[in-house]
Amino acid sequence: MKNPNGHEIIQLFEQFSPKSLAMEGDKIGLQVGRLNKKVDRVMIALDVLEEVIDEAIEKNVQLIIAHHPIIFRPLKNVLTDTTQGRMVEKLLKHDIAVYAAHTNLDVAKGGVNDLLATALELQEPEVLVPTFDTKLKKLVVFVPASHAEEIRNVLGKAGAGFIGNYSHCTFSTSGTGRFLPGENTNPFVGQPGQLEAVDEIRIETIIPEPLLKKAITAMIKAHPYEEVAYDVYPTENKGEVLGLGRIGKVSEMTLGEFAEKVKTALDVERVRVVGDLASKVRKVAVLGGDGNKYFMNAKFKGADVYVTGDIYYHTAHDAMMQGLNMIDPGHNVEKVMKKGLTAALQKMCREEGYEVEIFPSEVNTDPFQFI
Ligand SMILES: [Zn+2]
Repeated sequence: MKNPNGHEIIQLFEQFSPKSLAMEGDKIGLQVGRLNKKVDRVMIALDVLEEVIDEAIEKNVQLIIAHHPIIFRPLKNVLTDTTQGRMVEKLLKHDIAVYAAHTNLDVAKGGVNDLLATALELQEPEVLVPTFDTKLKKLVVFVPASHAEEIRNVLGKAGAGFIGNYSHCTFSTSGTGRFLPGENTNPFVGQPGQLEAVDEIRIETIIPEPLLKKAITAMIKAHPYEEVAYDVYPTENKGEVLGLGRIGKVSEMTLGEFAEKVKTALDVERVRVVGDLASKVRKVAVLGGDGNKYFMNAKFKGADVYVTGDIYYHTAHDAMMQGLNMIDPGHNVEKVMKKGLTAALQKMCREEGYEVEIFPSEVNTDPFQFI
């Protein structure tokens, strides 16, 4: 087991929720504090309110990972007799860092929208609003025949060679590698200063760009050569489409029944419903947070009902006119995020051998109550 620092935890987290997935202008990443310190307690929060900071202090947390940025509009000043100034002051005094993952976490595979789709038991969920085309790269590596098998395994494990539902796809050709080891070398095969010819295999595979760095690092680690010969090519192939919201099927029920299901699944007291409670629901679109502007995406993709937060009066009217049912469980629709993200990060840290405690904030940050 290893005691990680903040950078190492965030590096791991960003493999899951890369910054490149964020919508333009979003405020994400490290917002307060520093990461160059040992971190053994991480708290996952939806919002960073003063109560959440007090909870972090009490629980000796060194890093808060939050879905909503603590600083969204630029701060003009930090006055410690205002709430926001006091919040920053408390964080700095207790050396607690705040890192925000907002729309990138919405889009990420296994992120907020996937967690919502799972909670609502959507079958074969697809992306509702595409925002990001994953670029595919071709990776070619030359390896002595003795190590070809191992390198193919390492690349497959790192996520290379996914084509449709096939994994570990590679192509291998054999040939002769030639090299002249220089003076201060320690070659795996041959002697310094002597031209060498070795039976080598050229292994080629395809890999999504976000996984490339990790795959190359793992490949070089498993490769027997001091200097590894490999090439990375850009491709025109269409990679996986990522985006906001998900759409999928549920077993048929009425809108009224489905609304009850939403309440249970998302653990909310009340939901607002637009539409005829007796109408049938089969295809469901869901989008975490405020999804007002995407209601037509749900309509075009054939959704019977669209589940999202903060529905405006006028959006509800527009949806009604389009014959689209809507359910608004509130912005706290992202509550499932705390639990899901905690589990995902725990798993990643465990696999990496990091000794760190990760837990969700217990403060309820929903400002609304129903009376
Ligand atoms: Zn939100």
